[in-house]
Amino acid sequence: MDDDSARTDPITARLEELKRLVTGEDIRCQNCGRRGWPDRHTPGNGALELLLWLLGLVPGLVYTIWRRRNRGWICALCGSADLAWPRPIGPRGGLGVFTSHNG
Ligand SMILES: [Zn+2]
Repeated sequence: MDDDSARTDPITARLEELKRLVTGEDIRCQNCGRRGWPDRHTPGNGALELLLWLLGLVPGLVYTIWRRRNRGWICALCGSADLAWPRPIGPRGGLGVFTSHNG
């Protein structure tokens, strides 16, 4: 409508947002203040998971589900799970680009 809206055209704003998303600079660790993409963290033990599968279907399945459900993000520097996510992403991902699991 007036001059203010002309300065921030939606495409440029979207590109800036996307760039920040790719670099992860909007993701901040609340504990140490690190910015950038955190590490993917899966609880439990892969060898134990395999062992449980060899023991039988049910224990292996239960353990696999537990591991997947509790999978999350941790700070690459201090290992804290206390991360501040920008609105478009979030740990459970509205965008879903970086969380490749099918839920
Ligand atoms: Zn940290």
